[in-house]
Amino acid sequence: MTPPLDPASLDAQRVLVVAPHPDDEALGCGGLLWHLARRGRLIHVLFVTDGGASHLHSPTWPRARLAATREAEAASALRELGLGSAPRTFLRLPDADLPPHGSPGDAAALQGVTAIVRSVEPDVVLLPWRRDPHRDHRDAWSLVTRALDSAGMAPATLEYAIWLDEIGVADDHPRPGEMERVGYAIGNALPAKRRAVAAHRSQCGELIHDDPTAFCLTEATIERLTGPVETYWRPL
Ligand SMILES: [Zn+2]
Repeated sequence: MTPPLDPASLDAQRVLVVAPHPDDEALGCGGLLWHLARRGRLIHVLFVTDGGASHLHSPTWPRARLAATREAEAASALRELGLGSAPRTFLRLPDADLPPHGSPGDAAALQGVTAIVRSVEPDVVLLPWRRDPHRDHRDAWSLVTRALDSAGMAPATLEYAIWLDEIGVADDHPRPGEMERVGYAIGNALPAKRRAVAAHRSQCGELIHDDPTAFCLTEATIERLTGPVETYWRPL
């Protein structure tokens, strides 16, 4: 395996980060973002869904309250990564229920994201892995990829997988000749990345205790995604 790269080697001035849910930016890219922020790169974070489906059966946390809290948690996470004043967009599409491809809702979302990519003009886009087992991640990849196409833009892309190694099947993984694996040694960004993940308190079982069916990031998942190297996939 090739040795991991130093984040300083990433030639990026304007970076768009695509997080299907609030927490993916920290889990998937937190270390690289911390380094890029310290180098003064322009970083715009696009949160695609409202994250409101993680506690659907909580009597005290209706969807709107949870979604607002998740935005506040995302803001805290960005502060931990040195991105407290970085621009961000909360697209607020429904978590676990993105509008189907070709529907009016999809067309509106596509128009909105196309306007964002035109305004950010990224030279690198950090995307969720195109075949992540979580549907929202695949849909977010598709939405932003189509927006770049419709804007006539072809920035470099790096894709980060969140659920692939945990619940992915063989077909979900990169195919021979499809992608190149890039590992970034995040080094001294690790404590900030861990704090950024922990800032998503509702997803770490810290905040809401009245929904036994709720989603919760396990310690094993957090450990897996907060190691010394962040893995990205670059299309060949
Ligand atoms: Zn996610």
